[in-house]
Order: sequence, then structure tokens, then C-alpha cells
Amino acid sequence: MLIALAGVLLGGTGVAVLGAPSEANGEAAACTDRGDLDDLGGLTEPTRQAWLAAVDDAAAEGVELSLTSGYRTCGHQQRLFDEKVDEYGSVTEASVWALPPDESNHVLGVALDVGPAPAADWLRSNGSRYGLCQTMSWEWWHFEFDPAWKRSGSCPDPAPAPPGQSPG
Ligand SMILES: [Zn+2]
Repeated sequence: MLIALAGVLLGGTGVAVLGAPSEANGEAAACTDRGDLDDLGGLTEPTRQAWLAAVDDAAAEGVELSLTSGYRTCGHQQRLFDEKVDEYGSVTEASVWALPPDESNHVLGVALDVGPAPAADWLRSNGSRYGLCQTMSWEWWHFEFDPAWKRSGSCPDPAPAPPGQSPG
């Protein structure tokens, strides 16, 4: 009880409160930095290979896929999140556009933001071949890699709306 109270007091300034949901449900809350790597170099090897294969095949069809953001360090993700909190003035609204480091798959090296839009459309149609799927319907540029999607050759439906918000 004392610990919980201390947490509330310490978290009173806003951002620090974010660790609470993960801690509450017992999941690891620590952000594991994969090192000072670049967007492409920091991706996990299977993710990187899937991406490079997709880029090749897209190019063969005249589509130029580019990576706008891949791997991010915990510090980088935290800065992006903090900027969104400043911009929107609310942790909930900020989380629609950038997740805190402990929740972002960019930090794990399995998420890719791609562009331009027509190339993202190509990847949405063809990505399951590589295990690359759009996971959030409100971010057309955000794809993630999962070997299970590659094995099944199909993508799950992307989440229809950010947590706590209704679709549309
Ligand atoms: Zn993303």
C-alpha cells in the first residue's frame, strides 16, 4: 500500500505514470536497448531479410519502397513519445501516434515505417508473403514482421482503433 501510494505521488507529473499498466499486469517493463544501430542495421535479422526481399520484389514491379523509420533506441522512442505528449497534452492521445519505449515494436527491431503511400499500398497487398503486415489501421505506414504471418501467408486484421478509442 505504501509503495502504491509512493508510485502515485512520484507519477503525479505525468509521463512517469506510464509504466503502471505494464507493471500491474506483470509484464516486463524494462526497455532493452539493442545498441546504437541505424534504422536498417538495428532490425532483427529475419525482419531485415523480409524487408530487403520485399524491396527487391517491389522494385521489379516498378514500385520504390523506402524505409522512413525502422529500429529505434529506447532513448529515441522516449523522445518521440515525449514530443507527442507535449503536442497533444495527453498521454492517451499521444499514445495513438507514438508509444512509450516499453510498448513500441520499433525498439524491438521488428517494426518498419514505410513510404511513400503507393508503395505502402503495394506492401499491404503483398506483405504477407514476407511476413510484413500493417498492424494499426490508423497508421498506413507502420508494418511489423512476424514469422507466423509468413508461414500462414496471410495478415491478421489491423487493429481498428487505438486503445480506448472507438473505430472511425
Ligand atoms: Zn511505426
